Amino acid sequence: MTSKIFRSIFLVAMCILAACFVMIISILNTYFTGVEEAQMENSLQFSALGVEQGGLSYLQGLDENCRLTWVDADGTVLYDTRSDVTQMENHAQREEIQEALTTGKGSSVRYSETRTEKTIYRAVRLSDGTVLRTSISQATVLYLVLGMLQTIAVILVAALAISMLLAYKLTNNIMSPLRNLDMDRLPDTPPYPELEPLLQKIKGQKQEIDKQKKELADKRLSMEFAEQNRREFTANVSHELKTPLQSIMGSAELIENGMVKPEDLSRFAGKIRKESHRLLTLIEDIIHLSWLDEDEPLRMEPVDLYAAAEEEIASLRPIASENNIQLNLLGETAVIQGIPQLVREIIHNLCDNGVKYNRNGGKVTVRISETEEKVLLSVSDTGIGIPQAHQSRIFERFYRVDKSRSKATGGTGLGLSIVKHAASYMNADITLESALGVGTTITVKFKK
Ligand code: ADP
Repeated sequence: MTSKIFRSIFLVAMCILAACFVMIISILNTYFTGVEEAQMENSLQFSALGVEQGGLSYLQGLDENCRLTWVDADGTVLYDTRSDVTQMENHAQREEIQEALTTGKGSSVRYSETRTEKTIYRAVRLSDGTVLRTSISQATVLYLVLGMLQTIAVILVAALAISMLLAYKLTNNIMSPLRNLDMDRLPDTPPYPELEPLLQKIKGQKQEIDKQKKELADKRLSMEFAEQNRREFTANVSHELKTPLQSIMGSAELIENGMVKPEDLSRFAGKIRKESHRLLTLIEDIIHLSWLDEDEPLRMEPVDLYAAAEEEIASLRPIASENNIQLNLLGETAVIQGIPQLVREIIHNLCDNGVKYNRNGGKVTVRISETEEKVLLSVSDTGIGIPQAHQSRIFERFYRVDKSRSKATGGTGLGLSIVKHAASYMNADITLESALGVGTTITVKFKK
């Protein structure tokens, strides 16, 4: 930047200097040439008068300072104040002489070979037909310029130094607000209005970069979270699978070694069947959960909530009646856009919990209702209820309020997690109301 400013200043200074120089020289040259020519004219007229009256003797009386040449009408030089006429050639061809002979007055300018000197000639025809000529020699403009070369060099060096100093100062002045610009905290108004578009662009890009940084950080965080979730889930699954398998193996070993009395055999077989059943449900639940993690989206289609609830309730009736629990369905046909197998999964798991965590002789009621914007599916029970402290966590995978009760009823701890996943897959909201010892109501709100 300094060198660019320096170059500009130097160039401008040089241009101004050259222009001034040319102007001054040409004005002075014109002026002085004019003055000299007027003087020549005067003295020629004066001398012409002298020659007309005094003839040769007038010229001979003049000193060498004034150069006068007297030429005959045929060009022969009659007299010259500075040279010997016998050495001089015929002047008939000289421009000024020819002009004076024909028009009465003549003038011409001739340059020396080096063009450093010029001679101005003025000639006048006298009454006897001869011509009187005067001349002066001048240094040309070129000569003057050559003579001033030293001065010009000094001026050039001075301009160079001044340009450098000015460029340095100017650059500093221009650059210092830019150097002091804090890129992390850009000002609202730029130091120069011309920088406004640039500043706006930088600001925009900075915002964009910040946004991208934040998105990247969020993405990393959510990936880490997902990874941690996956690891936890794998650890939990292995643990959950191991427990019933170990119990099955233990019972089988006892039977194999003949350590079980014949009357206890059916109890052990029952235990093996129950644990195997638990394993099966666990595997089924894991498979259902993994469906929801699939990348390929499941197809949404119209599903009648009432019909689906009817089917699921029918399948649960045997277990419900075993525990003396009444299963009711209220409401009427309500069609939503959803995934049939997920809807059935939701209804099944909620009703299953309503039955499992109920008291003997209790009730489970499924209600299908509609508001202006939503279709609601609510499952209420008259069961044990969920303590306030656990309510926010029961939708987590493998989370159980009472582990032993869940296990005793064949629970896997995945039921509500499947409900939550399935609901969010279909953009449905879930609400929970529960009071200890009174009962629980879970409502799934589907968008119409
Ligand atoms: P589980 O297979 O153990 O039932 P869930 O995910 O379905 O797993 O439920 C998680 C836990 O939430 C259960 O272990 C239970 O403690 C509690 N829970 C779920 N539904 C009810 C309910 N209707 N009444 C009382 N507690 C419930």
